[in-house]
Amino acid sequence: MTSRSSGAEIGIIGAGLSGLATGVLLADMGYSVHVFEARDRPGGRIQSVTDRTGRYLADLGPTWIWPAFQPTITRWLEKLDLATFEQFELGETLLDHGPDHPVEPRLLSTGQSGHQRLLGGPQAMVDRLRARLPASSLRTGSPVVEVDFVGDRIALKVGGEVSPGVFTVDDLIVALPPRLALTGMAWRPALPQALSQALGAMPTWMAQHAKVVAFFDRAFWRERGQSGRILSRVGPLVEVHDHSGPDGKPAALFGFVGWPSDVRNKLGGDLELHVRDQLQRCFGKAGDVPTSVHIKDWAKDPLVAVQRDLADPIDHPKPGPAVIREAQFGGRLWFAGSETAEQSPGLIEGALVAAEQAVARLTARNGSSPGPTTTH
Ligand SMILES: Cc1cc2nc3c(=O)[nH]c(=O)nc-3n(C[C@H](O)[C@H](O)[C@H](O)COP(=O)(O)OP(=O)(O)OC[C@H]3O[C@@H](n4cnc5c(N)ncnc54)[C@H](O)[C@@H]3O)c2cc1C
Repeated sequence: MTSRSSGAEIGIIGAGLSGLATGVLLADMGYSVHVFEARDRPGGRIQSVTDRTGRYLADLGPTWIWPAFQPTITRWLEKLDLATFEQFELGETLLDHGPDHPVEPRLLSTGQSGHQRLLGGPQAMVDRLRARLPASSLRTGSPVVEVDFVGDRIALKVGGEVSPGVFTVDDLIVALPPRLALTGMAWRPALPQALSQALGAMPTWMAQHAKVVAFFDRAFWRERGQSGRILSRVGPLVEVHDHSGPDGKPAALFGFVGWPSDVRNKLGGDLELHVRDQLQRCFGKAGDVPTSVHIKDWAKDPLVAVQRDLADPIDHPKPGPAVIREAQFGGRLWFAGSETAEQSPGLIEGALVAAEQAVARLTARNGSSPGPTTTH
């Protein structure tokens, strides 16, 4: 990677949805791409529960898309040949008022509008994108710890144990939550102040949250005319939804933990016991006991959450200032994580919007694309 090939070499930091889509778009245009991912897997906040063979079962990260309002994901689903199905919502919602009060079944309108699930989960998008990237362009286990603008090349210092070293590229797209882009690596020279401030001010969507998936032998709530939805002010789960496969199998529920991260930290492994107690209190003794419970606490994930995310009030990110989408260092540095998107920042849609916007601006600035589409 240290010598220039026929096409410009573009480094991409982060192989979440945004980094993968960025890589595919650039590779399709003939650029040589090098995607550096700190984890041992691509996908970032898209993380799944799988069976022993690696087959997708459920989501510990995002679940829903809103194709009716999200034109970009709609195009990508077509491009990647992926299908959606309805979120199951038929039947009563259970209102949970805590251990000393009876559960209240209610027929409520849905909390969301037009939300759909992906067949194979968002994991299917990650798998399809990864398959479209040229072989060897993705380096997992490769955290970028320093970015150095030297002469007309950019040196990326990569840590980790897989292939540590210094790699150089012509241009760089940083596809990370903005706060991680700012604090997760050293910048030489330092980033301009206005940019640093804007990156630091963008909250990372869902960084404070913990998500729970519980599997059951059968979706017994459906047999009882219940949707599987629970709303609770008591918790630990404040919002629960049916998360079964399209035919009801595997039978599953997912929920968001409402108890804050410091409380979760104190509870440690006991959180699962509280979740199981709550599910039993809501469904009663006749409800099946979960066959397994999976918890992902995103607040504890240093590749998502920074301290400031845990201190901020939970608020959906609003589109950030233009500076996070503008060319930096003479057009050699761009940002593309979901939170940098002009539309739907923080969401799956935003991750794809951000990828498209960074690629369009970088390639417009570089002139036409450098060569024919590579075949893969
Ligand atoms: C629990 C949860 C529920 C959600 N629900 C929904 C939903 O229902 N619908 C929806 O639209 N969105 C939802 N989201 C948001 C959605 O997951 C994100 O918008 C999207 O996945 C972000 O993709 P990204 O590529 O921008 O960022 P990320 O997925 O965060 O990817 C960034 C990548 O960079 C890597 N990285 C970090 N630092 C470095 C470094 N120094 N060097 C190299 N690599 C690095 C990380 O490991 C990661 O792989 C949810 C998120 C969570 C956590």
